[in-house]
Amino acid sequence: MNDLKPIPRKILKFGGTSLANADRMRQVAEIVRAAASDHAVTVVVSAMGGVTNHLVEATRAAADRDDSWREALIGLRARHLEVAEGLAEGPEYEALESGIVQSLGDLEDLLHGIFLLRECSPRTRDSVLSFGERLSAPLVAACLRGAGLDARAVDARGLLVTDDAFGRATLQSDASHRAIREYHARTEPGEVPVVTGFIAATLRGETTTLGRGGSDFTASIFGEALDAQVIELWTDVSGVMSADPRLVEDAFPLPRISYDELMELSHFGARVVHPPSVHPARRRGIPLAIRNTLDPTAPGTLIQSDSVDNPYPVRGISSIHRVDLLRLEGDGMVGVPGIAMRLFGCLARAGVSIILISQASSEHSICWAISPDDTAAAQKAVEGEFELELGLGRVDPLIIDRGQSVIAVVGEGMRERPGLASRLFGGLARAGINVRAVAQGSSELNISLVIAGDDEVRALRAIHSTFFAPTARRVRLVLLGTGKVGSELLEQTRSLIPKLLSERDIDLRWVAIANSRRLLTGAQGINLDQWQD
Ligand code: ADP
Ligand code: ASP
Ligand code: MG
Repeated sequence: MNDLKPIPRKILKFGGTSLANADRMRQVAEIVRAAASDHAVTVVVSAMGGVTNHLVEATRAAADRDDSWREALIGLRARHLEVAEGLAEGPEYEALESGIVQSLGDLEDLLHGIFLLRECSPRTRDSVLSFGERLSAPLVAACLRGAGLDARAVDARGLLVTDDAFGRATLQSDASHRAIREYHARTEPGEVPVVTGFIAATLRGETTTLGRGGSDFTASIFGEALDAQVIELWTDVSGVMSADPRLVEDAFPLPRISYDELMELSHFGARVVHPPSVHPARRRGIPLAIRNTLDPTAPGTLIQSDSVDNPYPVRGISSIHRVDLLRLEGDGMVGVPGIAMRLFGCLARAGVSIILISQASSEHSICWAISPDDTAAAQKAVEGEFELELGLGRVDPLIIDRGQSVIAVVGEGMRERPGLASRLFGGLARAGINVRAVAQGSSELNISLVIAGDDEVRALRAIHSTFFAPTARRVRLVLLGTGKVGSELLEQTRSLIPKLLSERDIDLRWVAIANSRRLLTGAQGINLDQWQD
């Protein structure tokens, strides 16, 4: 009976950029088809690119009595109908069309209500935002059916149960896992559920959302519930990069990182993955893979529990743009126990979340970084808590430095490696960048710095070139002919490539492989495990 073992399942999540239009959706269908050839597959989808932002903007406009929400609605309708036309015809198209028209009618009612009331509760806002994924899932399912798969759109509100913290609801794992497993137990072999990411519901059936970027979280929850073999997050970059590729030109994809490194990088601004998505995957030890829909042969990034050999001590650099740095200092703080407790206690009671803390060992001053949205509340809380000390002059008036940025330098390889901080600060000094505050967690996984916001991009580039200077000699190879000799050559270089990089500083990559019928290219290097597919 052993051969009745279930086929391993993959979760494939496609982000908004992977679903920009009908052509992109067809690329998605190819990726799903390849996965479904030897795996059970569950697909999770975001809203089409930009749609959630349009919904946020339409909600704001309606609440402000600004008529532009009506145009937004017309735009959404046109865009989804156009994709439906590009993907289906006949009765399949008609079903899609009537679904879109129905959804947009419901959305119009909601927005009109907000317009009349001139306000939008978090609950209503979640209902509005849910339409992005509710519109995209049926389109993707139709596209997959067009590619010959037995695909069915699934509204996650029927499976994922959360509390009613609208906007960032907390999952009730047991109930959700049960519903996910029961649903999948009822599917036919080969059936591909296409699940709406990001959205869920309370036990009472009210629509909730999991926080912006939350489709990654949906994928991870499904992975955990179904004990998937891997959770693949398909996006528009070839993996987690050494820095935000929009800011640092030389950023490169990291082949493998640990869950911890991903958490640190994504908390500090590398929003390529929604940070809470790590937890469900980690709980079951399921690897997360970040892959590029536009370049499916690129290996992407594999995220697992252990960090693997890394030629660099630092793994990646990320930043949080726009923070305020607050500083409390005074002679009356030196040697007095309980100051930090009172300070952070009053901030916690005011609901202020703290990004970074640093205290000089003289205890004369404590500084901390927070979001500018929290600064007014923090100031009020601290001035209230230390009213007496302020009055007596034991504590100086709170100092607020606005317009700062936090930079985080992350890597398991930084542990127990002396001399790293001096390289870091040396690099910044050479670029003429002043560091306002520094914090290092005792895990030594992350060193965080506060610098002036205007210096952020320069600092990222300076740190990147300090640690990842292209000392490695680049060798780019093209293979013409994939016969016996060509294939053998590829096979031999496969094990050679990581060795050459770590031992000889030679960065060898295949960028094109061709035979008389086909050409395969990959600017970042072709994945030699998959070139034959
Ligand atoms: P999706 O819609 O697929 O969920 P996102 O826009 O949420 O995609 O995340 C991908 C984007 O994250 C990339 O296009 C990239 O610009 C940005 N990004 C920021 N920092 C990094 C990083 N360190 N590595 C990769 N991408 C990053
Ligand atoms: N559509 C949602 C957002 O834009 C969720 C996601 O894309 O992950 O935030
Ligand atoms: Mg995302």
